[in-house]
Amino acid sequence: MREFIYQAHPMRVRFGVRAFDVVAEEVEHLGLQRVAVLCTPGRAELGQALARALGSLCVGVIAKAVMHVPREVAAETIAEVQALGADGCVSIGGGSAIGLGKAVAMETGLATIAIPTTYAGSEMTTVWGMTADGHKTTGRNESVLPKSVIYDPELTRGLPVDTSITSGFNALAHAVEALYAPDNSPIISLMAEEGIRALTSALLGIRANPEDREARSDALYGAWLCGTCLGSTTMSLHHKICHALGGTLNLPHAETHTVMLPHVLAFNQPAVPEAVTALSRALGSAQRSTITDPARSFWELARELGAPTSLQELGMQQKDIPRIARDVLSSSYGNPREVSEESITRIISSAWSGKL
Ligand code: NAD
Repeated sequence: MREFIYQAHPMRVRFGVRAFDVVAEEVEHLGLQRVAVLCTPGRAELGQALARALGSLCVGVIAKAVMHVPREVAAETIAEVQALGADGCVSIGGGSAIGLGKAVAMETGLATIAIPTTYAGSEMTTVWGMTADGHKTTGRNESVLPKSVIYDPELTRGLPVDTSITSGFNALAHAVEALYAPDNSPIISLMAEEGIRALTSALLGIRANPEDREARSDALYGAWLCGTCLGSTTMSLHHKICHALGGTLNLPHAETHTVMLPHVLAFNQPAVPEAVTALSRALGSAQRSTITDPARSFWELARELGAPTSLQELGMQQKDIPRIARDVLSSSYGNPREVSEESITRIISSAWSGKL
């Protein structure tokens, strides 16, 4: 007999619209009058354009977001938001901009609107992260969940193809681990399977033509579903290893997910037959072929799409494998298959060499 808990998060999503056309409406819908725009320094122009679209509803642009939300950047941003007298924030960008909005929301209780321009999925989760003294802390807090999310595929058309692909793999990893999460539920499995199907075929389309509107729309749709999976379940070994590699060695987030996914899945597959069936269906439908080994299929897909396939390629040194394995083993998390220092070392070693 099936037993599960499904906890939905309050969330308003506007999909497939031009963000600049509807953002003022969304701000007003939330009863806000003085919002600050948050973005990365590289996307300051986009932030300014969004501020112009908001007109008198915007009190300033703070272009300070960086990967993994350094504590001092969060503190400076919070002070600036308060000095501006803002009553809310609009984050535009990838997980870094959205993560900065979460830090502000957690400290001040202000509402945020997210306009994601990558496929990382942070906008759908109550997970926050912050880095201090080379260590990243994460946690869950309902207050960080954006009140409203605007998905505008046009904003992703300029996302470089290589970043699109690794960001897409980051999203795929959320759905894969949701399929075997301890708190999985039937609705999450449906979302995960559909998210993987949509995103996989979209990534093939984007590689063929980065400007393809349908592929960009399908990729964002898949990313929304995968992000919802991340926000509704507890992630396992794959996310734990990526967290350790990013936090300790500063390896790039999305690329690390891309490299690790096939190796962790190959290890977990024997323990999760239902997930393997769902993944085979999703990947088979996206690639129009019969899939029996999803881990190998992801590995081949990464090669076909020209994504990085080894940790070595990302700059990791072989001598760091034992320290990461110990780090992963020492923290607690769920995983469908029991792990040991030896098995974690084996998984990271195969990802380091890139051979499956
Ligand atoms: P990112 O936000 O750092 O973006 C990568 C780079 O691409 C940045 O320089 C950004 O300015 C640029 N960029 C973003 N969108 C663009 C576009 N459409 N066109 C051109 N350039 C664009 O990277 P990311 O992978 O989206 O996010 C990674 C961060 O998000 C990490 O810190 C990760 O831990 C966090 N994250 C958090 C969650 C969560 O639930 N809390 C989920 C996923 C990721």
